[in-house]
Amino acid sequence: MKEKIAIAIAGVGKIARDQHLPALAANPGFDLIACSSRNAQVEGVRNYTDVEALLAAEPTLQAVSLCAPPQVRFAQAKAALIAGKHVMLEKPPGASVAEIGVLAELAREHKVSLFATWHSRHAPGVEAARSWLAGQEITAVNVQWKEDVRRWHPNQDWIWQPGGLGVFDPGINALSIMTRILPHAFFLKSAELFVPGNRHNPIAASLNFNDAKGTAIRAEFDWRHGPEELWQIEVLTRGATLLLTQGGKQLHIDGKAVDIGPEREYPGLYERFHELVSTGASDVDVSPLQHVADAMLLGDRHVIEPFVE
Ligand code: NAP
Repeated sequence: MKEKIAIAIAGVGKIARDQHLPALAANPGFDLIACSSRNAQVEGVRNYTDVEALLAAEPTLQAVSLCAPPQVRFAQAKAALIAGKHVMLEKPPGASVAEIGVLAELAREHKVSLFATWHSRHAPGVEAARSWLAGQEITAVNVQWKEDVRRWHPNQDWIWQPGGLGVFDPGINALSIMTRILPHAFFLKSAELFVPGNRHNPIAASLNFNDAKGTAIRAEFDWRHGPEELWQIEVLTRGATLLLTQGGKQLHIDGKAVDIGPEREYPGLYERFHELVSTGASDVDVSPLQHVADAMLLGDRHVIEPFVE
């Protein structure tokens, strides 16, 4: 029988309600005892309006799962780590790359676990794709991550503001899969960023990466897509083509479907968090966020028509 970890959620919004609350309810290894959110409340647990009040009032709390937008994650994570709580970060792990190193150091100092999650890495096709690609010579990679921003991010002002990533908010999910399944490191060579005149962040991006051998790795992220989202990664190798579709929920190799089991991204994240806490380990990989930072550094910015919600 697993030890039950007393946990709280901070930032009760779309992802907390859609995924975190159901995943926690189904996991006997966790006991959700409280939440903190400025406005929202969750029935059946104690509710606070900020993380500081939560930490002060809940001495038996062991872990906090941070689900607010990335711009406020560092301050919340810092407070929780200093209070000796294990911390799970929604993606992206923060508003800058370097702040995650500071959090990792605090976790070590306070002897608690820090888990920077990448939910898309727990899509069922990802580990199968990684194993299959491990022995392959890759000749090209084409990524398309396209969706309708009005459908997936209605009225989310934070996503357009500094630290909110714009189209890289979903695009970083593709990057989290690419950095997991591709057998070699890759880096950004050039990027085109398409930024609405009235917003800080891009609504679309074209990215060109290379690995050490010069393999062309191309990604197109676009928020101006029609009603059907397109979240796919195609990897061409010397002998075959691997295709991950539906964000990693389906895998085809040379046109044949591979049996990869059901979707369980968030249940998988909480299983991993429990394992990290139980073994006293942390899991902090900033490589997907590093690629986004590189795109913001190197990308050619094209100002386009304003985006009106
Ligand atoms: P959201 O619903 O807009 O935000 C979550 C909640 O955080 C809000 O309801 C709000 O609750 C609180 N919040 C917002 N701004 C805040 C601020 N400045 N300070 C403190 N709290 C604030 O966003 P979301 O879609 O759940 O996304 C949250 C995180 O999850 C993002 O990093 C996103 O990338 C990630 N994520 C989202 C999805 C998705 O499908 N939406 C999927 C995977 C991951 P209160 O007003 O009650 O404080």
